[in-house]
Amino acid sequence: AIALEIKGLRKVYDNGFEALKGIDLEVKEGDFYALLGPNGAGKSTTIGIVSSLVKKTAGEVRIFGHSIDNELAAAKREIGLVPQEFNFSSFESVWDIVVNQAGYYGLNRKVAGERAEKYLKKLGLWDKRKVASRMLSGGMKRRLMIARALVHEPRLLILDEPTAGVDIELRRSMWEFLTEINRSGTTIILTTHYLEEAESLCRHIAIIDAGVIVENTTMKALLKQL
Ligand code: ADP
Ligand code: ADP
Repeated sequence: AIALEIKGLRKVYDNGFEALKGIDLEVKEGDFYALLGPNGAGKSTTIGIVSSLVKKTAGEVRIFGHSIDNELAAAKREIGLVPQEFNFSSFESVWDIVVNQAGYYGLNRKVAGERAEKYLKKLGLWDKRKVASRMLSGGMKRRLMIARALVHEPRLLILDEPTAGVDIELRRSMWEFLTEINRSGTTIILTTHYLEEAESLCRHIAIIDAGVIVENTTMKALLKQL
């Protein structure tokens, strides 16, 4: 199956700035895909549109075949999003943040609790479940965002600069964890401006610059060129 299909995607912001100039991307199910580019290239805009946080100007986006134009609920159900910025209520507990997210997807309390336990344990946050999120370290907050994104067991996990500002040790442990999630069958797309990150993790790479896809290839083929 095709996890994500983007055709002719354009974004012109309200101030007239054209952030995406008609991009095409295709991500196959099971892939581990990097969208690599410098700051300002259009990575967050692309991810924002795919996860319906940002309105597109033109083009088509399908997630496992569901168009975001007329099957938005079905499309959203397929996605887990890990944003760049922490965006949870700082006074809520780790447990509540994950369980409430499951509630948004209509999971009943029993299933929500089971899933929260499963993913908090996987991410090493079980001991912190009663703690308010503002008390967590930066690395723990990142892991909490991943647990929250996985609780409805999406087929496509999207991460916006998952290791920006993270120290090397934590970066490596996140890489290992993401590799494990991908092995278990979840398609992953991440944005990054580190070539090393894309190289260590991803099988497929698209390079974006100034709103244009300038390269779209397998990591193997790219490394041969360099
Ligand atoms: P839109 O409704 O076009 O999707 P947003 O609601 O995302 O735009 O942003 C609202 C306003 O915030 C924009 O019109 C812009 O002036 C400002 N803004 C936010 N982020 C940026 C940025 N990175 N660069 C320039 N302006 C920004
Ligand atoms: P990246 O994630 O690759 O760093 P972004 O998608 O955040 O890039 O931004 C792409 C371009 O669009 C940048 O030049 C940025 O300043 C601009 N931009 C982002 N959000 C807005 C906005 N709300 N209004 C106007 N311009 C924006």
